[in-house]
Amino acid sequence: MHHKRLIWQLYPSQLLITLAALLAFTWYGTSSIRSSQLNETAASLEARAHLVAGTVLGFLGHDDRAGLEDFCRQAGKASATRLTVIALDGKVLADSDEDPLRMENHNDRPEIIGAFAGKIVPSLRFSQTLQQNLMYVAIPLHNEGKRIGVLRTAIPVTAIDLALSAIYQKIVWGCLVVAVIAALVAWFIARRISKPLEQMRSGAERFARGDFAVRLREEGAEEVAILARALNEMATQLDIRIQTIVRQHSQLQAVFSSMVEGVITVDTEERILDVNQSGAQLLNVDPEKIKGKSILLAVRNTHLQNFVKNSLACASPIEGEFTSRMSADGQEKYFYAHGTRLQDRQGHIAGALIVLNDVTKLRRLESIRRDFVANVSHELKTPITSIEGFAETLLDGALDEPEDARRFVEIIGKQASRLHAIVEDLLALSRVEQEARREEIVLQELPVAEILQSAIQSCSSRVEEEDMTISLVCAEEITARINPALLEQAVVNLLDNAVKYSGKGSEIRVEAEKNANEVLIRISDNGVGIAPQDIPRIFERFYRVDKARSAKLGGTGLGLSIVKHIVAAHHGHITVESSPGKGSIFTINLPGSV
Ligand code: ADP
Repeated sequence: MHHKRLIWQLYPSQLLITLAALLAFTWYGTSSIRSSQLNETAASLEARAHLVAGTVLGFLGHDDRAGLEDFCRQAGKASATRLTVIALDGKVLADSDEDPLRMENHNDRPEIIGAFAGKIVPSLRFSQTLQQNLMYVAIPLHNEGKRIGVLRTAIPVTAIDLALSAIYQKIVWGCLVVAVIAALVAWFIARRISKPLEQMRSGAERFARGDFAVRLREEGAEEVAILARALNEMATQLDIRIQTIVRQHSQLQAVFSSMVEGVITVDTEERILDVNQSGAQLLNVDPEKIKGKSILLAVRNTHLQNFVKNSLACASPIEGEFTSRMSADGQEKYFYAHGTRLQDRQGHIAGALIVLNDVTKLRRLESIRRDFVANVSHELKTPITSIEGFAETLLDGALDEPEDARRFVEIIGKQASRLHAIVEDLLALSRVEQEARREEIVLQELPVAEILQSAIQSCSSRVEEEDMTISLVCAEEITARINPALLEQAVVNLLDNAVKYSGKGSEIRVEAEKNANEVLIRISDNGVGIAPQDIPRIFERFYRVDKARSAKLGGTGLGLSIVKHIVAAHHGHITVESSPGKGSIFTINLPGSV
């Protein structure tokens, strides 16, 4: 829409009013001037008529028509007045400007009719004879009380018209001046009105842009000041509301993005409205790229797609669990999902909210626990079955055969020790796990050499039996934050394995060294070694490369598991280098003291 500037709204009306007033005044003024001029002229014509009336009557008395004509011509010329003498029948007897014979009967002229009736009637009209506007005044001529004719005097009124046109000209100029002054005044008023409005407009624009730092000045005309106050009040309210909205939004956004759960919102068309960081990570997608896309295209998981569909269809919240192979490492993930249909205030369905919980760890732990229970049962079953079998055989009569009985009892005793060993290791494992979880394991800065020496001492009898040697290389000053009892147990387990899986007479080396940020404890042997495919699994509970051999050597399959947990409780880690037939090196990495 086209809007006129304020000055163009004010100026024409102001000019119109001023000009109308001016014209009305001019019309009234000039018509007054004109009528007074005409009255004056009429009075002067009448006076002139009376002046010459006596002389004209003289000529008429002597019936001297030629003398009368001469007189009229001379007197008319001398007084710049047209003189006409008319007989009672309207015939022109003499005229100062024209031959009376050529003039028509003047009976019908209004001033003549008036004079015959004894009245002075001035008449203003165009003279066909002289071809100009004239004013006529006629007086009756009486001789000895008898009316004998009419004397008419006339003068052109061009002078009056000239005077009036000069006045008109001045008025036109005056109007022009007034128009200019009116424009200036209108411009001045428009500026005075528009300046605060302009200030208000720029203020309102600033408010619209969200800049509430400056307020409008509440000054000027009352209406303007009230408007400015209202705008300021509006700005204050807007500012408060916007700040509240922004604060709430950022709080919500912070909650949304810092949630551990993945949150996805979709509209009724199953298009993704928003997804938080965790959600994007769980689904292995770029949050910015999938916004606005259909869930069918954005996330290639039919379980999730169906879950979204069901959430939109179902009035009450739904729950579900599904798997996906969407993680970056291609591992299967387990999700526990909640789906809620979203409704606006009017009760219209706006979309759905899906909350995803990554329960992969939980499910893996559950499966580990299940496997563990199965493994423990399996491990315990073998010695128990064996004990049960031999006990029954003894009862069935073998007791009477002292040699068999002794052999069987020995086997029962061996299996019982095995059970004992398994239970001991299980207890040790669960103790380390529990203490580590509760952070009950006390670590102290202690020399490592002492621990290694006492571990070697513990294994010495078996080492001697096997004709082996253990060498120790460890500087006295090497210290680390350790729990002496636990670390000793870990080293004993590693030494025990080294003894078990090395041939008679071989050499085992125990070395410790300290580098910039860690302490390394290395146990090397020249034993059977471990195949590369087994290395990742040897730290699992009950995992043994060669079950029969391990069992024969009294292994439980828990030794390395215990070592791993002890090292983890020291905030360190363990690594293995091994090649089958050549030997193995187990290295405990402990964080150095700070
Ligand atoms: P085990 O009680 O059977 O020794 P561990 O948990 O201590 O159980 O060890 C797991 C498996 O790792 C063993 O069965 C064995 O096959 C292998 N292993 C451990 N240490 C060594 C080693 N020093 N040399 C060769 N194999 C080893």
